[in-house]
Amino acid sequence: MTAYAPCELWLRPPADTLERLERTLERASGRQATIFFRADDIGLPGRQLARMTDLFVRHDVPLALAVVPTWLPLRHTELKGMLAPGGALWCLHQHGFRHVNHEQGNPSGKKSEFGPARSAEAKQRDISRGRDILESYLAGRISPLFTPPWNRCDGEALDILAELCFRAVSRSAGAQPASPPKMMELAVNVDLHTRKEPTAQAALDALLNELEQSLATGLCGIMLHHQRTNRAALEFLDCLLVALKRAAGLRLAHPTDLIR
Ligand SMILES: [Zn+2]
Repeated sequence: MTAYAPCELWLRPPADTLERLERTLERASGRQATIFFRADDIGLPGRQLARMTDLFVRHDVPLALAVVPTWLPLRHTELKGMLAPGGALWCLHQHGFRHVNHEQGNPSGKKSEFGPARSAEAKQRDISRGRDILESYLAGRISPLFTPPWNRCDGEALDILAELCFRAVSRSAGAQPASPPKMMELAVNVDLHTRKEPTAQAALDALLNELEQSLATGLCGIMLHHQRTNRAALEFLDCLLVALKRAAGLRLAHPTDLIR
C-alpha cells in the first residue's frame, strides 16, 4: 500500500480549530438535520483504521464502511475481528471493485473506475464480481449501497447498479448524471481528510463552511479516509462526534436506515 500523507489542515491545524468547530455547531443547534458518516477505502486493517472505528464504537455512532472488494480477501479475518466490537453500528457496503482509475485518457483528468472509458459489460462484470466477493466474506451483513471510487461513475454504471438491485448510491452532493428513479442518493457534502486547499487556514474555513451549509440543507453526509488521518485529525473527529451528539435537533443516523 502507498503511504498517504494527511492534508495541510491536519499537518498544521490552526490553534483555534476546535473552538471554531464548537461555535459552528452552536449555530446549528436547534436546526433539524440528519447526519451520517461514510469511511472509504476499507479492506486492510491497521492502526489508523482501528483508531477511527474505535471512536465510533466509543461514541456509539453508526458508520458506513465502503469496502473495496479485491482488498477484502487478503486480511478479512483480522478486519472482522477489529470491527467486531462495533456490531450493528457498521453499514458495510461496496466501494467499486479494485479501486483503480480507467480514465487515464480522459481529457477531464477526472479519475473513475466506472466511467465512459469502459464497456457496459466490463463495468457490469466488475460490479457483480465485487458484490459476490463481499457476500462470500461478509454474508448477510452487506447493505445495498454502492460508493463509487472518487465519488464518480457514469449513467451506464448507475443503470447497472439499479439492475443489480442496489438501492442507493453515495457520491458527492450534486453529482451528475442523476441516478435512476428507483435509486436513492446518499450524498456526502463534507470532506474531513482529503482536502486540497493549499493552506490549513483556507482548509479549515472551507471545511466549517461545508459543515454549516450541509446542516442547513437538513442532510449532512461526512466523508472520512483513515489512511489520511493523524493525531490532530482524529482529535477533531472525536470532538465532532461529541458535539454532534450533544446538539439539539441533530440526528446521527444509521446509513442503512436511510436507505430503507
Ligand atoms: Zn476510495
